[in-house]
Amino acid sequence: MRSSLNPYLVSLAAVAVAVVVRVLLDPVLNDRFPVITLLLAVSVAARYGGTRPGLLALLVGGGAAKFFLLAPRGHFAIAGADDQVGLALYGVCGFALIAMFASWRKALQEADRQRLDLEREVTTRRATEQTLAEQAEHLQTTLASIGDAVITTDVDARITNMNAVAESLTAWTTADAMGHPLDVIFRIVNETTRLTVESPVKRALAQGAIVGLANHTVLLAKDGTERPIDDSAAPIRRTDGVILGCVLVFRDISERHQQQAALEERERQFHTLAESIPQLAWMAHADGHIFWYNRRWFDYTGTTLEQMEGWGWQIVHDPLELPKILARWQACIATGTGFDMTFPLKAKDGQFRPFLTRVEPVRDATGQVVRWFGTNTDITAQSLNEEALRHLSAKLSDADRRKDEFLATLAHELRNPLAPLRNGLQVMALARGQDKVLEQTRLMMERQLTQMVRLIDDLMDVSRITRGHLELRKERVSVPAVLHNALDACRPLIEEMGHALTITVPELPLMVDGDMTRLSQVFINLLNNAAKYSDPGGRIHLQATQHGSDVLVRVTDAGIGIAADQLPRIFDMFAQVHQSLEKSQGGLGIGLALTKRLVEMHGGSIEALSQGPGHGSEFVVRLPVFSDGVSPDQPRPDEKTSAVESLRILVVDDNHDSADSLATMLRMMGNDTRTAYDGKAGVGVAESFRPDVIMFDIGLPTLNGYEAGRRIREQSWGQHVVLIAMTGFGQDDDRRRSVDAGFDHHLVKPVDSHTLLTLLAGVSGAMG
Ligand code: ADP
Repeated sequence: MRSSLNPYLVSLAAVAVAVVVRVLLDPVLNDRFPVITLLLAVSVAARYGGTRPGLLALLVGGGAAKFFLLAPRGHFAIAGADDQVGLALYGVCGFALIAMFASWRKALQEADRQRLDLEREVTTRRATEQTLAEQAEHLQTTLASIGDAVITTDVDARITNMNAVAESLTAWTTADAMGHPLDVIFRIVNETTRLTVESPVKRALAQGAIVGLANHTVLLAKDGTERPIDDSAAPIRRTDGVILGCVLVFRDISERHQQQAALEERERQFHTLAESIPQLAWMAHADGHIFWYNRRWFDYTGTTLEQMEGWGWQIVHDPLELPKILARWQACIATGTGFDMTFPLKAKDGQFRPFLTRVEPVRDATGQVVRWFGTNTDITAQSLNEEALRHLSAKLSDADRRKDEFLATLAHELRNPLAPLRNGLQVMALARGQDKVLEQTRLMMERQLTQMVRLIDDLMDVSRITRGHLELRKERVSVPAVLHNALDACRPLIEEMGHALTITVPELPLMVDGDMTRLSQVFINLLNNAAKYSDPGGRIHLQATQHGSDVLVRVTDAGIGIAADQLPRIFDMFAQVHQSLEKSQGGLGIGLALTKRLVEMHGGSIEALSQGPGHGSEFVVRLPVFSDGVSPDQPRPDEKTSAVESLRILVVDDNHDSADSLATMLRMMGNDTRTAYDGKAGVGVAESFRPDVIMFDIGLPTLNGYEAGRRIREQSWGQHVVLIAMTGFGQDDDRRRSVDAGFDHHLVKPVDSHTLLTLLAGVSGAMG
């Protein structure tokens, strides 16, 4: 406690007061204890002001005592020895008092200091406690606000704290978990093996280091939930390094797992796709460094990833093409745009094949190129196809051109015989009675008509062949017989042209399995061509030989020959080499095509040979021999014609001329004939006339031929009538329909008179 008063002044005042008080006490005390009050003053000064003010009070008090209180008063001189002793005692007592108060004051100050120290310590401790409390709260808040789960343990791995996330992931409350071993709260197993995984805390505590968890760990919560987690543990150390416990941090990675799985799935899908496409495929980083190729690439190039990686692919490129490709690829990387390019790639056998290469950038969400994806498609087949298409298209336009030419020729060829026919009619009208002229004209007209019919027959055959409708009536036929048939048909032309014909046919049966008519047609075509394409007075040689299991028939002429470049296409439809040939007998350019097909249908082949224009031609037909050793057929009896004896014949045709001329011809041959011009009328006439034979055109008004035939067959008188269908159509289907309708025969118009007479002879023979 400090006083604001000056201690020295207090000393002096105390001395003054003491003197005054002693003076006042004089009546009571007299001379006794003259300094008693002054000792009090010294005490007050020493107590209040300490040693120095005490000494001041003692000194001044001694002086004042001598001056005011000891006799003689008013002087400082000391009178007697008593006073001297008294003053000495005063001094001793005064010193003693001062010393006593000095030590009292010191003790007091010490106590004061200690109190202050104590107070200071209390304040400090309070502040420390507060800081600690704040820190604890801060830690708690921090733990609570961490997104990851946090568990702390002591050195024995017993739980000391958990945050809310840890509570939710383990399904334990902190209160329940507190003090439990970590293994109980934090149970982890391997995702696939289901074996318990050691908690990282144990190792962190043992090793004193931070430990991460093994991958693929699943946390089993108290409530049975399982979650994949990712975690790490770190020891908690005091500042001096002593380990106090461990902190375990972990998090639920289900979502990351799913994303990872989805990513892996996509990656797998991509690889499956990239491996299954028929193309070669590869991937490059944004800078063009190729880091992946599909299996096909390696299979095709026979290289390895080590060779190809980065920019190693250049070794499978054509060095001449490479600069162009490099420039393109580098420009593509620089600009971030894909490209398409066709270039060759070397296969493992060293061969180059053309590839269409397509490169596309793969961009991230910001549009940045992160990767390149490229494919190389082998376009060899396409190139070949294109080539084939070009070829086909050329062939088609050639065929089209030939078809146009054919139509023009056809028109010409069909018109050609018409003029002589008309002339012939004219001549017949004028030359009545002149039998010789009439006969010549008739022969001429017959030739022209035959020519025209042959043309049309050929056309119909072509149509049948192209539609696959031509059927062979196969039997065992002898090649020499076929050749004689053909020669019979061709001889008039050969003779007319003045050609010399030589024939070398062995006396062997040379049997083949074939259709007599069609095989004859083959050789008629070849012999006619030999005659047509030779100048008058030429030489034609027909030769047949057996060659192993084949019969070879050669038709050789010394005519105009065929140019080498024409030989390969001579058997094409509508092929005509010598169109400008004035002397040509003409033709439609279908004869050889037809011939070739017919030969092939017989299992044979045909070949054309020529040394070139002016050197003649040779056609070689090869047919397989029929090998059952049976001798050739005898000429068929129906090949002989016999006269037709008086039959009752009804001709029904809506073409009046056709009907009338046929009826006239039959009547002139001695038959009784009637005509009708539609189906119903036909049935009506038949009813009254009761014919032996009815010849029905099929395409008839009112009732078609099939229907009319069927009606007649329904009548009792119609059962035995011979019904003959005459149509423009000779297809098998037409024949079948006429058979179904009850017809006995089916003839194709124009009806060949020889065929008809043979047929009628058969009828009258059967009736006779
Ligand atoms: P065409 O009706 O024109 O005779 P072909 O199919 O029979 O039709 O013959 C096709 C072409 O082949 C003929 O136009 C002719 O140019 C040529 N040709 C056929 N046979 C002979 C041959 N013996 N000598 C020369 N050229 C021939």
